[in-house]
This record gives sequence, C-alpha cells and structure tokens, in this order.
Amino acid sequence: MANKDLGGCSGMVSDSKGWGSHKCSFKAIVVRDGKGYCKKHDPEYIQTKREEEREKWNREMEERVQKRKRLELEKEYCKDISTEELEKQIKQRRLK
Ligand SMILES: [Zn+2]
Repeated sequence: MANKDLGGCSGMVSDSKGWGSHKCSFKAIVVRDGKGYCKKHDPEYIQTKREEEREKWNREMEERVQKRKRLELEKEYCKDISTEELEKQIKQRRLK
C-alpha cells in the first residue's frame, strides 16, 4: 500500500472564537473504523495524549499534595521554635 489516498481528515476543528467547528482540512494518514484522520485527529493519538495528560495531571496533583503536607508538617514541627532559634539551627546544619 504505497501512498494510498485516504481522503480528508474526519476530525473537526473548533474555530478560533470557539463558537463553531468545521471539518479539518488536513489529509488523512490513518483510517480508524472506516474514517480517515490526520495525525492530530487520530483517535488513538488523541487517546494516548489524553492519558499522558491525565498522568501528568495526577503526578502534579500528587506533588502538590505532598508539598502541602510537608509544609504543614514543617509548620507544626517549628511551631514552638522561635525564628531566631530556627535560623541558628539551620545555619549549624549547613556547617556540618
Ligand atoms: Zn485532522
């Protein structure tokens, strides 16, 4: 199958104002369920991208949760230590 013309992409593109959409003007490079799609609108590509984004989002959420937890613990830990004392301890630790 060399350079078979798969027709146009079946994907839809939202217009710049987001009020409507029109058919994608790219040529199809893959066929899914009998419909042609360009690289950007390939449902498998979109699915993969969506999963990647979800994973990234989950990772970021987890990081944020961990950071907040850490901050709360630090706050709790340092509650009864004066700022001067805290500074002193941090400096001493740096010298070690
Ligand atoms: Zn397309």
